[in-house]
Amino acid sequence: MEHGPDNAALWLYELGEYQLCELAGDGHAEHASMLCNDDARPPQDLWLLWTGEDEPRKTRIAELPACPAAINRGRTNAWHCILFAEHPAVHSWEISDPLGDLIKQQAKEEAYRRFDQPDQDPD
Ligand SMILES: [Zn+2]
Ligand SMILES: [Zn+2]
Repeated sequence: MEHGPDNAALWLYELGEYQLCELAGDGHAEHASMLCNDDARPPQDLWLLWTGEDEPRKTRIAELPACPAAINRGRTNAWHCILFAEHPAVHSWEISDPLGDLIKQQAKEEAYRRFDQPDQDPD
């Protein structure tokens, strides 16, 4: 992977303790979290996959082709599924993520707040 990490184990450690599963529901055998997306066409993204709820979990890192599904959003716009090919459950545009939406909203408000006050000392 051209833009992937040189040392996947070290990089994973630096990402921190928590990875959230990006798949919908809880009926899948293996959980998955995207580590790094790829600009290649067709994309091959880097995923962390794990099984089990208790420590130690069984984990693996895999480069997986992107899900080819997309839906049209008007004449020239499309939403592409951001999950990997043949993922379980529904496509990404059908998944609601209230925590992710809240974090994005707070980041946006923080960006607006800083942008509106460019002359202030950051300290
Ligand atoms: Zn999961
Ligand atoms: Zn999909």
